[in-house]
Amino acid sequence: MIIDSHSHIGARIGSSQTGPELRARMDGAGVDLACIFPHVEGGFRNDDVDEAMSVVPGRFIPFLAVDPWFGARAVAEIHERADRGYRGVKLHPTIHGYDLADLVLLAPVLEAVRDRGLILLAHGADDILNAPAAFAALARAYPEIPVLMAHSGVFRAHAQAIAAAREIDNLYLEAARVPAHEIAVQIRELGPTRTIWGSDSPFCDYTWEYEKIRRCVDSEEARLLVAGGNLAQLLGLS
Ligand SMILES: [Zn+2]
Repeated sequence: MIIDSHSHIGARIGSSQTGPELRARMDGAGVDLACIFPHVEGGFRNDDVDEAMSVVPGRFIPFLAVDPWFGARAVAEIHERADRGYRGVKLHPTIHGYDLADLVLLAPVLEAVRDRGLILLAHGADDILNAPAAFAALARAYPEIPVLMAHSGVFRAHAQAIAAAREIDNLYLEAARVPAHEIAVQIRELGPTRTIWGSDSPFCDYTWEYEKIRRCVDSEEARLLVAGGNLAQLLGLS
C-alpha cells in the first residue's frame, strides 16, 4: 500500500488543489492513499478536507490543521473531527508564529492528539521555530504520539534531525520535498523504518516526488516501508 503522508487541499493565494486533481496525480504515480489537510496560511478551512472526502471517497485520510493560539477552540475542533474519523493533526509553527518547543502553549493540543490516538505532522524544515531540538523535546514529552518531522530538517538541520530520530522512537523523518541524496543518507543512517514518504502536493511534481524514493532506496522491501508501510502501521492499516 502506497501512502502519501502530506498533501494540501483547498485554495489560497498562489496555490490550490481539489480532491479530483489530487486523485489524478495519485493515479498517475500509482499512489493508493493520501493524508490531506488544508493549506495552512491565513484563515485555513478544515472543511475543505470534508469536501474532498465526499467528492473522492476512499482515497484520502483526513487530517486537520490547527493553530494552537486558538486554544480551547482548536482543542474542540480536534475532538469534533476525531469523532468523525480524522486521523492526524498538522502544525506549522513558522507560519502561525510560535516555537514548537513551547510545550506550555501546545499542551492542550498535544493532550488532545495523544488522547485521541492521532498522528502529529509538523512543518520541520530548518526554520528556527521548528528545529529538531524542539521536535525532540515534544516527542520525548509525548511518547505515545507518532511525530512526523515534515521535510526532515533539510538542509542545515538535517544532521540534527537524523540524530534526534536515532534517539527517539516516536519521531519519524517525513521526506516531502527532501532531495534524494538526503533521503538516501537518512535511510542509510537510520534504516528504512524511520522515514515516511510524503509529496507536499500541490507544491511538487507529484510523480517525480514519488519516483525519487525508487532512486534512493536500494531494496524493494525498504521502498515499500518508506512509501507506505511505516505509515500504514502507525495508522493501523496494515
Ligand atoms: Zn506542506
